Amino acid sequence: MESTDMLRDRRKQLLRDIERLSRLAIFGTLSETYRACGTASCRCHDKGPKHGPYLTVSYRSQDGKTTGYSVPRGAETSIREGIEAWRELQQCLREMGEINKDHVLQIARAARERST
Ligand SMILES: [Zn+2]
Repeated sequence: MESTDMLRDRRKQLLRDIERLSRLAIFGTLSETYRACGTASCRCHDKGPKHGPYLTVSYRSQDGKTTGYSVPRGAETSIREGIEAWRELQQCLREMGEINKDHVLQIARAARERST
């Protein structure tokens, strides 16, 4: 079992990571799409390659509906970083959840040992 000090340090580190990541995190899944443009005479309307890739983000909203938006050129890097931050944030929260669970079980175990 990990020592209490190690757990305390790990928890502090996780809290720092969670704070940093949550400032950047963006929820959604990235995909790249190709589209036809508005010019009827353009190659994209006649077997030519469509325009793109355009970055889009899709996600499930609070009411369970799938929705999304296209990412403007200037925001691509930040959106990519935000979505990566969201993924890392979930990992941190998961590890924090493990530590919390172990902590609660440890307290219960100690209490049981004292009472017997
Ligand atoms: Zn076109």
